[in-house]
Amino acid sequence: MCGIIGYVGKNKAVPYLIRGLEHLEYRGYDSSGIAVMEGNEVITVKTSGRIKDLKNKLAGIDLTAKCGIGHTRWATHGEPDDINSHPHSSMTGLFTIVHNGIIENYLSLKKELLSEGFTFKSSTDTEVIANLLEKYYEGDMLSALNKCRRVLTGSYALCILCRDFPDTVYGTRKGSPLLCGKSAGGIFFSSDTVALLPYTRDVFSLDEDETAIINKKGIKFFGNDGESKEKKSERVSLPEQSADKGDFPHFMLKEIFEQPRVLKSTLDSLIKNGELLPDLRELKKSFFALQKICFVGCGSAYHAGLAGKILTEKIGNITCIAETASEFRYGNVPLDNKTLCIFISQSGETADTLAALLKAKEKKARTLSVINVRGSSIARESESVIYTEAGPEIAVATTKAYTAQLICLYLFALCFAHERWQIKRDERDRLLAELRLLPAKAQKIIDERDKAELFCSLFDGKDEGWFIGRGSDYASAMEGSLKMKEISYINTGAYPAGELKHGTISLLEKGTPLVALCCEDRLFPKAFANIKEVKARGARVLILAKEKNARELSDEENVFLLPDTPDEFSSLLQAVALQLLSYYTALKRGCDIDKPKNLAKSVTVE
Ligand code: GLU
Repeated sequence: MCGIIGYVGKNKAVPYLIRGLEHLEYRGYDSSGIAVMEGNEVITVKTSGRIKDLKNKLAGIDLTAKCGIGHTRWATHGEPDDINSHPHSSMTGLFTIVHNGIIENYLSLKKELLSEGFTFKSSTDTEVIANLLEKYYEGDMLSALNKCRRVLTGSYALCILCRDFPDTVYGTRKGSPLLCGKSAGGIFFSSDTVALLPYTRDVFSLDEDETAIINKKGIKFFGNDGESKEKKSERVSLPEQSADKGDFPHFMLKEIFEQPRVLKSTLDSLIKNGELLPDLRELKKSFFALQKICFVGCGSAYHAGLAGKILTEKIGNITCIAETASEFRYGNVPLDNKTLCIFISQSGETADTLAALLKAKEKKARTLSVINVRGSSIARESESVIYTEAGPEIAVATTKAYTAQLICLYLFALCFAHERWQIKRDERDRLLAELRLLPAKAQKIIDERDKAELFCSLFDGKDEGWFIGRGSDYASAMEGSLKMKEISYINTGAYPAGELKHGTISLLEKGTPLVALCCEDRLFPKAFANIKEVKARGARVLILAKEKNARELSDEENVFLLPDTPDEFSSLLQAVALQLLSYYTALKRGCDIDKPKNLAKSVTVE
C-alpha cells in the first residue's frame, strides 16, 4: 500500500514521477503528490484525490528540476486530505520525504519532538520521520538515518530529499519494499518493478535496513552501519500480458478474460517432462516426514489456501489448517520442522503474510510460497517458491492471480499425495488430465458471460446478500462473497450451508438474495435440502451447479450451470463465474470497479 517513486536524471523529473505514480496507483489512491529539487530549493505539489487530480494541479506549472520524489497514498494515519498527502517536510524544510509503511511508535516520538520545540503540520506518522531526520542530522545523512532507525518501530520504505545535497535522492527501507533501477535517461526508486520496466529490466532490490543514494554519479548502496556495499542487479523478465487496459472497459474484465491463458501457462511452467513441480525437488524429500501443513494468506489468498487445505487433506491424508496471516502471526499454532507452511500472496509483499513467514522460519518450519511477483520479499525469504504466471494484475479485486493460485495449490496437492504414496500414478494422471481441461472450461464460462450478466439482477435494489456452500463449495462461497463486497459494496455473508439453522437463518427475510454453491457431488443432496429450507423462508436463490445436475434442478428458477469437473477442482470454475457475477453487479450499480473505495492492492501495512 502506498506507492513511492524517486528520480534523478538528465530530464525534467515531473513527467517521470507522474508516469511512475500512474503505474503505482493500484497501491493506493487517497491522495498523491510530488516534490522536486532544483539547486537547494524544494517545491512540493500535492492533493487529495487521484493522480489525475494531481496532474490538473500541476497543469500550467513548469517545473524544470531533474530530481524528485512522488507518492500515491493509502491513508493509515490521518484523513486522506491535502495536508496529510505526501511528501512531508521537516520543520525547517531541510528534509522532504515520501513514506510507505506505518510508524507504530509515532505518538510517543511526536510528543517527544513537540516537547523539544519541533512543529507539525499533518496528523500522519510520516511527518515524525521528517522531523526526526532533522533532529539527528549533523551534516551526515547516513548517520542521521542510522539514528532514526534505532528509534523507529514499524515499517517504512522512504525516498528522501535533503536540501544540503542537490540532485540526490536517498532511499531506505525496513519491512516495506523498495527497488532501484538505472536507465540511460535516469535512475529511479520505486515500490514495484512495474514502474521501472518502461526504463530498465535490471533491478536492485534493497535489503532490510539498506540505504541507496542516487545522483549524477550513479547508485551507491550502504548497510545498516553506513558501510558501503556492492550489490548485483537482477534481470526481471517482461510480463507476457501488458499492464494496459486495451479495449476493455475495466482492468478487472480484462484480467477475467486472461484467465484461460494464465492457467495454461502456469500449468505448463510447473510440469517439466512429466515431473510435477520440479523446482521443489529438495522440499519433496521432506514430504514423507511431514505431519501438518498450514496454508496462510490474506483475503482471497486465504480463500485459495482454504481450497488448498480441503484438497490436500482429502487426497494427501495429512492434517491441514488454513488461517489468515494476521491471526497466524500472533497465534499459537505449534510449528516445527515436521510442519510445512505454505504462504500465498499475489504481490509477495503482503506485510502480514511476510511476518507469518518469518515466524514460521524462526520456529524451523519448512516454508513454501505461492507468489505472482518474482523477486518479491516473500519469494526471497521462502525456502521454495511456486510462481503463478498471472502477469501484472492491476484491478484491486484479484481474479487471474486468484485462480492461478488455485491451480498451483491443486497441483501441489496432486504432487504431495503422489509423492507420499496416498494416490497411485494412474489416479494422479487422471486428475492431472482433468486439471489440464480447466483453462478451456474457464473459457466456456467467459464465453457464456451473458448468464452472469442476467443473474446479477438477483441483487437488484438490495444491499445485503448471502453465499452458502458445503465443503469446497464453502471456500468458494467465502471468495464469492468477498468479491461481491469488494467491488459492489453489497454486504454479503458467506456461511457453511449446514450452519444456517444454528443461528444465522433468523436474519433471512423475504427477497434476500442468496447464492447457493452446489458443486460437491457427494454433498449435493444435503446442499439441495438447505436450498429448500432457505427458499421456504423467502430467499431469492441463485444456484451454481454442475451441468450434470441440470435435470435435478429443472424446477428451479435461477440455475447457473458450470462445466462438469471433479469436485477436487470445482472451486476454480465457481470462482470465474462468481467474478463475472460481481463484475456485472458492480457495473449495474455504477461502482468504481478497478479502484473500490478504501481498498488498495499489495497490502504492505499490517
Ligand atoms: N502511514 C503513512 C500514511 O498514512 C503511509 C501509509 C502507507 O504506506 O500505506 O500516510
